[in-house]
Amino acid sequence: CGIIARIGHGDAAETLLSGLENLEYRGYDSAGIAVQNGSGVKVHKCSGEVDDLKSSLESQPHGNMGIGHTRWSTHGPPTDANAHPHTDTAGDVAVVHNGVIDNYDELRAELQAKGHEFESDTDTEVIPHLIDEYRTETGDSEQAVRRAVETLEGSYAIAAIVDGEEAVYAARKGSPLVLGLDDEEWYLASDVPAFLDHTDEVIYLEDGDIVVLDRDSYRITDLAGTPVDRSTDTVEWDP
Ligand code: GLU
Repeated sequence: CGIIARIGHGDAAETLLSGLENLEYRGYDSAGIAVQNGSGVKVHKCSGEVDDLKSSLESQPHGNMGIGHTRWSTHGPPTDANAHPHTDTAGDVAVVHNGVIDNYDELRAELQAKGHEFESDTDTEVIPHLIDEYRTETGDSEQAVRRAVETLEGSYAIAAIVDGEEAVYAARKGSPLVLGLDDEEWYLASDVPAFLDHTDEVIYLEDGDIVVLDRDSYRITDLAGTPVDRSTDTVEWDP
């Protein structure tokens, strides 16, 4: 129901958690984050509120980049296993998703036939497995995200991180996604309150946009990989 991503200097977890709290008005039944710090992608998630997620964390997870989610279940009940982020079998690719994947049933069957193991009832879980599958084929995560997105039918705003890569990958079709630009940090979220404490410089993404954020640049392309120009706005927010 709401997604957030952040890459920059210093730990991401606190920004992700406060961003999720600022998306609470969208309503949700589960929450989760994934961060990575060079020693793997670490997922923390549970059914309930962001507060429940916070109290389930024994200590603040370290890592300068990560993704977060508040879920409003469409496929599968609000359980810990169905909370986002979801990962591929090895846990190297983590994904948050807002929307509905219409062809998840057939994709799941195809992926299971190739040996992928699923842990949730969600439509979303096919996405990290697809990215993983295409990474193996192409050896390139951006291309894998592009291929995955081409395969998906339905609506989505997604953000993904990959073990060992200093990057956040994102895409949208039919669900909102906005990029926030700070001096040394980039944000992605379903709506600006998620990162408004940090920056009011934004780019509203459009359907078909694919975004790659790394530590010091961001790139927006269309599905074919052609760079697209999107203008920067300054948000005037009157809470
Ligand atoms: N369809 C996904 C699920 O049920 C995402 C729902 C959402 O947008 O929160 O997990």
